[in-house]
Amino acid sequence: MNAQEIIQTEAKYVLQSYVRPEVVFSHGDGAYLYDTEGKQYLDFASGIAVTALGHADKEWATAVSEQAHKLTHLSNLYHSEPHAMLAKRLVENSFADRVLFCNSGAEANEGALKFARKWAKMAIGDQRLEIEGDQAPISNLQSPNLASSKTKIVAFNGGFHGRTMGSLSATYKAQYRDPFGPLVPGVLFVPYNDLDAAAAAIDDDTCAVIVEPVQGEGGVNPATAVFLQGLRELCNKHRAALIFDEVQCGLGRTGKLWGYQHFGVTPDIMTLAKPLAGGLPIGAVLTTQAIADAIKPGDHGSTFAAGPLVCHAANVVFDRVSQPAFLDNIAHTGAYLRHRLETLETEQIVEVRGMGLLVGVEMKTAVSPLIAAARNKGLLIISAGETTLRLAPPLIIGEAHVNEAVGILEACLS
Ligand code: PLP
Repeated sequence: MNAQEIIQTEAKYVLQSYVRPEVVFSHGDGAYLYDTEGKQYLDFASGIAVTALGHADKEWATAVSEQAHKLTHLSNLYHSEPHAMLAKRLVENSFADRVLFCNSGAEANEGALKFARKWAKMAIGDQRLEIEGDQAPISNLQSPNLASSKTKIVAFNGGFHGRTMGSLSATYKAQYRDPFGPLVPGVLFVPYNDLDAAAAAIDDDTCAVIVEPVQGEGGVNPATAVFLQGLRELCNKHRAALIFDEVQCGLGRTGKLWGYQHFGVTPDIMTLAKPLAGGLPIGAVLTTQAIADAIKPGDHGSTFAAGPLVCHAANVVFDRVSQPAFLDNIAHTGAYLRHRLETLETEQIVEVRGMGLLVGVEMKTAVSPLIAAARNKGLLIISAGETTLRLAPPLIIGEAHVNEAVGILEACLS
């Protein structure tokens, strides 16, 4: 099929939940993508912050191919070495004691909210034990208090957590939620980085507070340390689980392995997905032992999650991204990118935000014409809201790629 036939076939057969530009990609190499006409594009979108090692990374592709020749899928009914080794890597290099794998960011947040709910219902049992001493029914220690009112979830304005019913319920934008109600009840939205508002919303009925340390989709907004530290204290006080959604900002994107490392705060649960397997679908829910203790066999599961192929790929990504020199390059190149954007001579940029290689450029006007113009000149970028450009290149880029991207943007803005 030629490009036009592919576009027409998709238009006829694919459910139209996306608007795609008239370009068909055939292959990639490092930070570049190529369309069917052979035109080269510098990829500063990386499949929405996914392809951490760029396209067709040799070590990654060889590992995937070798594993595909050995064993791809098993289900979670059996053990495999790549699964065990990925869990070990994630736990030994983070705050967590346990990890559960799934297939996407939305699914990871779905799991996180379920675990927080069950843990909170168990914790209510513990509280009653403390109050009632020896009189407490022993069943409170072993099973959740099903009548518990400790089910409230606090989420934040601008937050994005996914499109499944649970994760969607905690996603802020009404246009994503409203057509699909009724959603999961008990979610309260509070202004981001507003600790007083959070303090007014979080109470003893709260089971979870879910927050992105750097909001991605909501406009590339980093949290303040005071805000995240305050949330930690409020969660301790009210015995609620603090969930950091690091689906977009985790695993090196901000220049540190985990976003939370910038703020001196650790969560009770952290969710990961996008870059973890370098382009193959995976999600992960990392938790403390206290929360893991509430989850029993049969509470949660997935047919596809964490098969040997996807875990083997993720082990390759993790080993590369977690190298100190790799992380330093992200921090350095990200700072250089922000500096180049901040010093562009144009009236059209209002603000440059972000951390590491997750950069938002707030513009005076809607960004969709600029995204199309950049694409025509061979640069792929995406939006984060109507007036914000989102730059999320592969984590392997250097200053030369930044110079090329900023040069194209400058040409589009002049
Ligand atoms: N959480 C955050 C912070 C995200 O940015 C996204 C996707 O953009 C999700 C969750 C949902 O992830 P997925 O699209 O893999 O379900």
